Amino acid sequence: MDTTATEVFARHESQVRSYCRDFPLVIERALGPYVWDTGGRRYVDLLCGAGALNYGHNHPEMVARVTEYLARGGPVQSLDLHTTAKAEFMSRIATDVLAPRGMDHVMQFPGPAGTLAVEAALKLARQVTGRTNVIAFTGGFHGVSLGSLSATSNPTLRRGAGVPLHNVTMLPYERRLAGIDSSELLDHMLRPSSGMEPPAAILLESVQGEGGLHVASPGWLRRVQRLAQQAGALLVLDDIQAGCGRTGTMLSTDEILEFDPDIVCQSKSLSGMGLPMAMLLIRRHLDQWEPGGHNATFRGHNLAFVAGVAALDLWRDGLGDRVAALGEAIGDSLRSVAAAASEVGANQVSVAGRGAMRGLRFASSEQAGAAQRGLYDAGVIAETCGGGTVLKFFPPITTTVAEWEGFVGVIGDVVLETARSVEAGSGQDVGRRLEQVA
Ligand SMILES: *Cc1c(COP(=O)(O)O)cnc(C)c1O
Repeated sequence: MDTTATEVFARHESQVRSYCRDFPLVIERALGPYVWDTGGRRYVDLLCGAGALNYGHNHPEMVARVTEYLARGGPVQSLDLHTTAKAEFMSRIATDVLAPRGMDHVMQFPGPAGTLAVEAALKLARQVTGRTNVIAFTGGFHGVSLGSLSATSNPTLRRGAGVPLHNVTMLPYERRLAGIDSSELLDHMLRPSSGMEPPAAILLESVQGEGGLHVASPGWLRRVQRLAQQAGALLVLDDIQAGCGRTGTMLSTDEILEFDPDIVCQSKSLSGMGLPMAMLLIRRHLDQWEPGGHNATFRGHNLAFVAGVAALDLWRDGLGDRVAALGEAIGDSLRSVAAAASEVGANQVSVAGRGAMRGLRFASSEQAGAAQRGLYDAGVIAETCGGGTVLKFFPPITTTVAEWEGFVGVIGDVVLETARSVEAGSGQDVGRRLEQVA
């Protein structure tokens, strides 16, 4: 069998496949920010498992601990039975995440996917309040199982549901509607006279990962929190993409004063090395599940617990300061790239996001797509979001500023090259002339 060819995927894999259409390489090996294809070509992976590989590929310490755990016969699957791996992970979440933030939340492991954390959060909020409606925001992405999908705005994904998606009211995310403060709109809608069903929960991301790296301001988040409290609705933070250090801190809202969600959903980088795991943090008095009232086979994956502890060790080791510096460097360098590209003819490029969760916003999806193709040709993998208009750059948060300067050098060259060919009327296949990133 030729494992270097892509025919097997084209012939045998469902049409549903997506990322691999833009990036058809066959990956053989991966380490840190790099992946190597079967021809030995190295790529810089700024797709980062869509945020599931914040600590890079195959972090050596995580690999060592998982390998050692297996070698000594540690159990892999255990439903929700007690294991030593789970005990250690939970103790470390309690001491390293909950205690310093003054959070008296309990942990729930709903199953291996992010969408399962959101499903559990919405289900619990509906049980606790006896209400059915949920408020979510335009541009939000919360997963593709039916409950989460109801709160997700992407029309292609919604069409995929095949049934009506009920019981969610969509309101504009902050600053998405010029001249309108959507927290005022929320305030208006929460009045009994509005006719809107009172919500069980208000569900939001602090930075919209798939929706275009829109950033909510601290003031807006606090206003939404206050309105949730007044309305008797649970505030649910979907921190699946923005959390685990992507914005610079373990929870994406750590630096937002007096913001204290009732439920936090985490997944993606929680296990540190891309092993599937999801977790909810639930304010203790809201943890009103019946024993067994919600279950799943894969509730907590012992290898993910083992690697997840190694990830928490990196934070004890000063990772927070290094991510803050990296985030600054990413912001500064992308601003220079955007400014240079915006000087070429009618191009309009700006920086989106915060911390190490950033990207470049283009005037059109054609321009972002041309830059994406140019980057791939130059050996850099980066996805688009926000309806294809924002190119997302997610280096591992363990990337040094010096490494990042190398990556952004290539990004700058390609984006400028793209801007010039867009100006010259051909946005196609730029970057073919650019050297592979050294
Ligand atoms: C990825 C993501 C999800 C869904 O996680 P899956 O593991 O893909 O089900 C939910 N919310 C946000 C913000 C995400 O980025």
